[in-house]
Amino acid sequence: MNWTVLVINLAVAAPAAYWTYQDAKGRDANSVLWAATIILAGLFFLGPLGPLGTAIVLLIYSLVRPKGAMRACPHCNKKALSWLAFCPHCKGVLKRDCYRCFAAVDVEEESCPHCRAKLG
Ligand SMILES: [Zn+2]
Ligand SMILES: [Zn+2]
Repeated sequence: MNWTVLVINLAVAAPAAYWTYQDAKGRDANSVLWAATIILAGLFFLGPLGPLGTAIVLLIYSLVRPKGAMRACPHCNKKALSWLAFCPHCKGVLKRDCYRCFAAVDVEEESCPHCRAKLG
């Protein structure tokens, strides 16, 4: 494999790996493993077709990653799955229990969306 191919493969794989790392981390998935798989597939498996390897791993990741809506963490502003109790990026608390109905409520909510109890 020549250097031009390697540089092109890396130019495609590196941003894809970075994006996947951030997305997987916010979803509490194995971010390091996914990023490493994209780099390996993009750089070495298919030679000049490296970007295809990157695309295939991205496709698989999008199918198997933990599903759910993302929201910005109120502490670090990075995206995290909306139902997680703690932010995977900064470990900040995302949920607290409503004292009345014990539902998990987003920390920045001022009242419980389930029973309307005032939280604060
Ligand atoms: Zn956070
Ligand atoms: Zn409640």
